[in-house]
Amino acid sequence: MSTISVKPENHFQYLVLGGGSGGIASARRAAKHGAKTALIEVTRMGGTCVNVGCVPKKVMWNTASVMEVLKDAPNYGFKFDNLSFDWPTIKNARDAYIKRLNGIYQNNLDGSHITTIHGYGAFVGEKVIQVNGENYSADHILIATGGRPNIPDVPGKELGITSDGFFELEKLPASTLVIGAGYIAVELAGVLGNLGSKTSMVIRHDHFLRTFDDCLSSTLMEEMKSQSIDVITNSVIKSLAKNEQGLIVATTEDGKTLAPVECVIWAIGRDPNTDKIGLDKAGIQVDKYGNVVTDEYQNTSAPGVYAVGDIIGKYLLTPVAIAAGRRLSERLFNGQSHLKFEYENIATVIFSHPPIGTIGLTEKEAIAKYGKDQIKCYNSKFVNMYYSVMSHKPKTVMKLVTVGKEEKVVGIHIIGLGCDEIIQGFAVAVKMGCTKADLDNTCAIHPTAGEELVTLV
Ligand code: FAD
Ligand code: NDP
Repeated sequence: MSTISVKPENHFQYLVLGGGSGGIASARRAAKHGAKTALIEVTRMGGTCVNVGCVPKKVMWNTASVMEVLKDAPNYGFKFDNLSFDWPTIKNARDAYIKRLNGIYQNNLDGSHITTIHGYGAFVGEKVIQVNGENYSADHILIATGGRPNIPDVPGKELGITSDGFFELEKLPASTLVIGAGYIAVELAGVLGNLGSKTSMVIRHDHFLRTFDDCLSSTLMEEMKSQSIDVITNSVIKSLAKNEQGLIVATTEDGKTLAPVECVIWAIGRDPNTDKIGLDKAGIQVDKYGNVVTDEYQNTSAPGVYAVGDIIGKYLLTPVAIAAGRRLSERLFNGQSHLKFEYENIATVIFSHPPIGTIGLTEKEAIAKYGKDQIKCYNSKFVNMYYSVMSHKPKTVMKLVTVGKEEKVVGIHIIGLGCDEIIQGFAVAVKMGCTKADLDNTCAIHPTAGEELVTLV
């Protein structure tokens, strides 16, 4: 036990560092079971998801989706002369919505009788965290400090913004270069491109979303091309500089100079917020990326200290942080000693245009795990009926990955209109261990895109 002095009133049963998705969910569940709980947060309540992540991103994805529908509308007989778009209208409405959410999160904590401590917390000893010069301790401590965008160390790097800066933009940039090849890069490029910014992406390899099934990235790359989003492949950014017109010019390691743009966005991954919180003073081990090392029960290397969410570097998703945080509190404060979050078969959606839904193993992963002769994939490529009256005919692509004689479904990968909503229900089926025959035995709903998954041959 630490010898650092802590006032008796500053000792809690549960102390949570970080008021984001994982921290709030875990604190509230602990308080529900009667634990005397405190939560430390340095900025606005709600964390990345609420303030600079899922929520404002989804508002902007909705905005771009409305624009797509408006562009499609004449094909359905609608006539209007001027289609104009006012960025400040949606930016102000979005900011107001998030402000309301910040208040709701704070009220929820207050309503759960959780003590909120405002300020930056860092360990000063085993199970002791200091905030604004005051020491706090607890029987159990949860670290859930989330992450921040990574920016590479290249000349002119400060000329680029990150996803955080994207949400501060006061106007739609006339032109944008998005650097990166993951979720954030394709989502922001899709929003900006569809809203009318001349958008290009630069990626290090020949396709983006490389950790996803090939059918998803190839279909999205094709579709982005048709939306005039230029994807510059096999290129690594060497520097950024401003030209005489005040535009940003990127150069690549192989000597290319890219077209000048008004806005550059770095979207190359995120780093865990674990470097300045005194983990060394508390004996908490991190890996080479700075992620907190935990076992399957979220225990860190220090007894009585736990970690959930982005800082453990596995599935950086809000529902994962929430589920792991809640299960931990059930285990600690409600006697469910074997409860833990299972880090597999986690469904996820990429809010690209069109959206992607995916769960389980990719075809390549399934082959690597079970052997080629054990795997059978069912594929479908079709045009959603929504586009039947238009000349633009984006493809919906669906793939089912099955294993063994019983054809157990181990992966579902879908891209196209509505796939963001379709995947959740199928995720339940996969989690329950469904087989291809179970899907075949499910009567289709017609006419929908989802019916394709129960009629694959
Ligand atoms: P966070 O939510 O980041 O919370 C950490 C909190 O800790 C923050 O509030 C921070 O201020 C606070 N903090 C940090 N250090 C300290 C300290 N020393 N003292 C006090 N407080 C501290 N996920 C999805 O599931 N769906 C999506 O659509 C989605 N979209 C995203 C879009 C973007 C642009 C980004 C960046 C992320 C997105 N994510 C999405 C990921 C999701 O936001 C994160 O996985 C999730 O927020 C992680 O929760 P967390 O609790 O681990 O951390
Ligand atoms: P990701 O890890 O998803 O993708 C970043 C990609 O950028 C890498 O995979 C890599 O791809 C490429 N990259 C890495 N370093 C460089 C570099 N120096 N130069 C150029 N490219 C580079 O990170 P994101 O920042 O997109 O998102 C972080 C996480 O947040 C996601 O993993 C996801 O978990 C979560 N998130 C979830 C969303 C959702 O649920 N819809 C939306 C947004 C974020 P390659 O190796 O191919 O070059």
